[in-house]
Amino acid sequence: MSDYRIETQCVQGGYTPGNGEPRQIPIIQSTTFKYATSEDMGKLFDLEASGYFYTRLQNPTNDAVAAKIAALEGGSAAMLTSSGQAANFYAIFNIANCGDHVVASSTIYGGTYNLFHVTMRKMGIEFTFVEPDCTEEELEAAFRPNTKAVFGETIANPALTVLDIEKFAKAAHAHGVPLVIDNTFATPVNCRPMEWGCDIVTHSTTKYMDGHGAAVGGAIVDSGKFDWFAHADKFPGLTTPDDSYHGITYAEKFGLGGAFITKCTAQLMRDFGSIQSPQNAFYLNLGLESLHVRMPRHCENGLAVARYLKGHPKISFVTYPGLEGDKYYDIAQKYMPNGTCGVVSFGFKGGRSAAETFMKHLKLAAIETHVADARTCCLHPASATHRQMNDEELAAAGITPDLVRLSCGLENKEDLIEDIAQALEEAD
Ligand SMILES: *Cc1c(COP(=O)(O)O)cnc(C)c1O
Repeated sequence: MSDYRIETQCVQGGYTPGNGEPRQIPIIQSTTFKYATSEDMGKLFDLEASGYFYTRLQNPTNDAVAAKIAALEGGSAAMLTSSGQAANFYAIFNIANCGDHVVASSTIYGGTYNLFHVTMRKMGIEFTFVEPDCTEEELEAAFRPNTKAVFGETIANPALTVLDIEKFAKAAHAHGVPLVIDNTFATPVNCRPMEWGCDIVTHSTTKYMDGHGAAVGGAIVDSGKFDWFAHADKFPGLTTPDDSYHGITYAEKFGLGGAFITKCTAQLMRDFGSIQSPQNAFYLNLGLESLHVRMPRHCENGLAVARYLKGHPKISFVTYPGLEGDKYYDIAQKYMPNGTCGVVSFGFKGGRSAAETFMKHLKLAAIETHVADARTCCLHPASATHRQMNDEELAAAGITPDLVRLSCGLENKEDLIEDIAQALEEAD
């Protein structure tokens, strides 16, 4: 399968049935798997043989869908998690422990920012946040001797900044650490960060990959290219024996291609248990089968809406990296020449109250705490996700009180624009 192009991988990657086997990926709705002898099972526990014994660690449905995502990203191995939050937590915690440090872009998703800045800090891991547009010198200054990873989002949710992947990869590699990128908004259809030097990719599959608002989920993909042994002192978890697995050294036993994901499964999934249910993995796969068909339409609708809003007299600003003149247009053209995403944010000359009135009058676009769905949805962060903040705090978070985030779905773009136009009539 690996020689096929991305469209073919979306449809058929990860699962090739044998003679008389189900055409669609079967949902293996079983917590456990049967063995003839205890010795057979013992080999699995020792990671001497590969196979299934308990769905908290691995399940055949999940593995088939993970293999598809690995193929889409051009990675060596992948795993599914119960959510995007779990994916980002595992991806970092797999290499950074208490006493370690991570450099992260400051415009990342709010949930990830909180995970890093509050919860993982309590676990003894420190984060330094840098502006995605920082100079190479500023980026350089953020590193410490105990830095273990660099983290960013291809297109940030909801800031819509675009990461200069090569700049971040160069800095990470100069310090002997991997670059981890959350590729949720771009999806591998629009950008494959590993082709630009990224080492590990994460996803909230809840968004475009599922694409139908049906199943919360996450994924982690390893490129298999980061040489853990070249920086063995920084990554003892991968390069020295694991006592909780009979002295296995992951990078030795599973090679560069398998070490990261095997360790993440054997240790973190075993201990934290944020597995995706096989039923949700099945829904995710249905979404993946049409990802390459849906993404261009999301982008087409996003661009049409952004262009319409840009010319509207009641609108004060439009942020959309695919729009000519946007601050991130050139960099988006470099990394995502075929399109960015369907999410557009914009503000009102009439301020917060105009934004609120506008939202009230939308008919097609529903008010939801969600993005990247087949159905257009929108959010006014100042009165929803960020409502506990005052105007100064909002400004510090890069969100103005009049900002509306609109996630363009797959509907007809003229219908979307007409809906926006009639709601704008009311907004003063
Ligand atoms: C939504 C989102 C997450 C969190 O994912 P969940 O599946 O909701 O846990 C992480 N990163 C980005 C970029 C997101 O948009």
